[in-house]
Amino acid sequence: MKKLFFLGIIFFISNSLYALELKGTFYQGNLILGKTEPGSKVFVDTDEIKVSKKGFFVFGLKKDRKNDLLIEVVKNGITNKLTKKIYKKKYQVQKINGLPGKQVTPPKEVYERIKNDNKLISKARSINSDLNFFTSKFKAPLKNSIITGVYGSQRILNGIPKSPHYGLDFAANEGTKIKAMLDGVVTLSKQDLYYTGGKIVFDHGHGISTLYMHMRDVYVKNGQSIKQGDVIGTVGKTGRSTGPHLDVRLNWFGVKLDPASVLDLN
Ligand SMILES: [Zn+2]
Repeated sequence: MKKLFFLGIIFFISNSLYALELKGTFYQGNLILGKTEPGSKVFVDTDEIKVSKKGFFVFGLKKDRKNDLLIEVVKNGITNKLTKKIYKKKYQVQKINGLPGKQVTPPKEVYERIKNDNKLISKARSINSDLNFFTSKFKAPLKNSIITGVYGSQRILNGIPKSPHYGLDFAANEGTKIKAMLDGVVTLSKQDLYYTGGKIVFDHGHGISTLYMHMRDVYVKNGQSIKQGDVIGTVGKTGRSTGPHLDVRLNWFGVKLDPASVLDLN
């Protein structure tokens, strides 16, 4: 597993001409943090993104993105353009057998429930707040845990190919305390979602959100402000889960990113 995490190493690309700093490697699924002169406008793939008062901005790269990325910074009528090549990530194939059949192909009577769950989650992920917690360094949610599932792996559940796994799974005993990876505001706090069980979504600003899933206990409420390192709940096996573990997710709006791209896991 260890070899995967070199992707999490962060470096700076500086270009003084552009007054533009980019932190993060341009691998598929990664989060990229940028800083430019305050008052600049920033466009990614021609879409304008939010720039903080101090000049920070953030965006993410889709899991299967192949084409180059275009960044434009506009200040005082001058446009600077930068094109970045996107590096491919190798994704694993993960087979999981022995799941209860109804968890792999849900029964009709829960379709409505799943639809409602998805609505709540996508609403939380679409928030575009001015919070700027995303500029801080993330910390791992659990200590001394083993990674049992990585981002992008194709899952074959009971022999049926499913959508890729977008989270990072940490195996831990049920009841282990989970700590917030970053300062944030709770935008969703639920005990019993069909797939993901006990779940929390945090907003960190500019479309960056994190998700914690399969929790046994959820200690936070909607709208609550949380500090990095605060205990937010405990590890469980609620929802679709073969055993106790924590699954964390990272998003830039609807784009599902690799949590390992922001965590120092070695
Ligand atoms: Zn998972």
